[in-house]
Amino acid sequence: MSGEIPFRVGHSFDVHAFSDDPARALVLGGVTFPGERGLVGHSDADVVAHACIDALLGAAGMGDIGMMFPDADPAMAGADSVELLRRASAAARGNGWRLANIACTVVLDRPRLIDVKDQMEANLGAAAGAPVTVSGRRTEGVGSLGRGEGVVAWAVALVAR
Ligand SMILES: [Zn+2]
Repeated sequence: MSGEIPFRVGHSFDVHAFSDDPARALVLGGVTFPGERGLVGHSDADVVAHACIDALLGAAGMGDIGMMFPDADPAMAGADSVELLRRASAAARGNGWRLANIACTVVLDRPRLIDVKDQMEANLGAAAGAPVTVSGRRTEGVGSLGRGEGVVAWAVALVAR
């Protein structure tokens, strides 16, 4: 065996609690859901975009979202997380990594994602510069997620030198 294998995989998890603030909008994969409860977060709390960013940064060995986009930075207040994904992807490219794809699973009971899945994938894929797939899963009423306390997302990313 000789030479370094040119691929790296990254995996991530993110969770945001639902907010009681009626002014917060629910944003998932860059899609806003009118009339749905928003999530708590410093940025737009787009848990799907955050999972994609962390998987990508992990694969590229570039830390995590909190290091690249600190909560303490006032510029991050209400930030568009799909734009943060675009910036993270550009930074990874700048470090010599090509993103192959990201696959994300998001768990929530409502709203249903079926009608907006294509739009979420288009938003995220355009920002990432590579295919992004999003699978929605329901909780079947199990646990804290089944009680509607928040939304979680996992993602994996593959990058190549
Ligand atoms: Zn997050």
